Amino acid sequence: MDIQPFLIGGEWVQGTGSAFDSTNPANGKLNKRVAGASAADVDQAVRNAHRAQRDPKWRNTLPHERARLLHRVADLIVERGDLLANVQMRENGKLFSECRTQAAAAAGAFRYFAGIVETMVSEVAPSRGPHVANVIYEPFGVVAAITPWNSPLTLEAQKVAAAIAAGNAVVLKPSEFTPGPALELGRIFLDAGFPPGILNVVTGLGGETGLALVQHPDVRMISFTGGTATGRAIGRIAAERLVPVALELGGKSPHIVFADADLDAAVDGVVSGIFTSSGQSCIAGSRLFVEREIYDDFLARVVERTRALKVGLPDVAGSQIAPLSSFVHRERVESYVKSAREDGGTILIGGKRPDAPELQAGAFYEPTIIAGLTNAAKACRDEIFGPVLCVLPFDGEDDLVEQANGTTFGLGCGIWTESYKKAWRVARAIESGTVWINTYKELSVAVPFGGFKDSGVGREKGYYGIRVYQEPKTILWGMK
Ligand code: NAD
Repeated sequence: MDIQPFLIGGEWVQGTGSAFDSTNPANGKLNKRVAGASAADVDQAVRNAHRAQRDPKWRNTLPHERARLLHRVADLIVERGDLLANVQMRENGKLFSECRTQAAAAAGAFRYFAGIVETMVSEVAPSRGPHVANVIYEPFGVVAAITPWNSPLTLEAQKVAAAIAAGNAVVLKPSEFTPGPALELGRIFLDAGFPPGILNVVTGLGGETGLALVQHPDVRMISFTGGTATGRAIGRIAAERLVPVALELGGKSPHIVFADADLDAAVDGVVSGIFTSSGQSCIAGSRLFVEREIYDDFLARVVERTRALKVGLPDVAGSQIAPLSSFVHRERVESYVKSAREDGGTILIGGKRPDAPELQAGAFYEPTIIAGLTNAAKACRDEIFGPVLCVLPFDGEDDLVEQANGTTFGLGCGIWTESYKKAWRVARAIESGTVWINTYKELSVAVPFGGFKDSGVGREKGYYGIRVYQEPKTILWGMK
């Protein structure tokens, strides 16, 4: 059987690490076998990146020339949008329509950072003596980018676009569940005319390929998106090596509905906030807090709306809930629902695999709503990363803020109320990197994104998102 190679220094190589299977979670069929990068292959990738980054051809590329290359990548992503969407859909089971939207967003990320690299300025600081003080921004050199399986198209684009716009070379290590989009991006970089070695893609297992990458002495910055436990382990290595890290980690986001909200809009926001991407989103609104006076009625409406969601194959028009990304992940989600039952929770809807015959071969799970738990239950504490919503009542703002902040995470939060004063007060009180008011899961490459507490360290995206991948250098010119 052919093995999918990976990309080092512009060459497609088979590597010497542990090869692995990519499986389609919608039908359990093998997509392909993929080569794994060993520590020696990672070493080659980092050396190539290092060489390419130091090469004057790249170092002296003027900002508008770098921007032109980034725009060319965006053009090719648009041209190959359906192909990219298909590759992602076959690997993580996401709806084809959503994959297409994500391909478009990936192109948008390259255009955004192309715009920034062309317009970004350095600074002249106020002089405190007979000198002129310049602050300029240098790339780190080689950046390691490590990504999860849930939205590789967008997550990889936003890391790679910013890091390369900033002047670095990148070694990208995608999740072993979704190697395809990163490999396609590597191909696009070559076709766009980037020098070989500026983007390298090493596929493989986290404990083998990923670990070798973060430990490599020539990796000067680590940008990681994934689970909190992995992020913490990588953070420890980075601390020991004294290299900066950006960690985008998990969430358990509170979604809050006050009695005075536009309840029609809130029902839509709550249902799509948890169930899009089958709940496999770091910002899924997975804990729903409803003001007690409307609790029963509102919950009945959320359940009714959830009942209308169509669980179906990801490439069939009309499907709204696609499979989970893997069979092993479905088992994990099921174990959380079991724990919720044991903790006294009531399953209001879902809580099982769907019965439809055409879905039996895939990793499908019904959208599930659980009431009757306290905020301390395991299902309310841990990130389930599946289509499971836990619902809790609250009495007044103080009780709400205490419960909503009663989590180790701090990534997202939604607030539904018609009172702008209340929205402001609560938004300020919640410990969260992003707060949505009367909307949910709106995303923009133009604003910083990241988490408080165990949801991460640092921010990606936004105007200063490029600075994450640079370090300031001060140059003082004597004027005596
Ligand atoms: P994961 O932590 O298991 O894996 C993420 C990546 O790290 C993979 O590429 C994996 O191979 C690699 N990895 C694993 N162990 C490693 C090690 N010891 N050293 C180096 N690399 C290693 O996460 P996942 O299951 O792929 O993704 C789901 C998680 O990602 C969820 O917790 C979700 O909330 C989080 N996530 C966060 C954001 C965000 O922006 N905050 C976005 C998407 C997903």
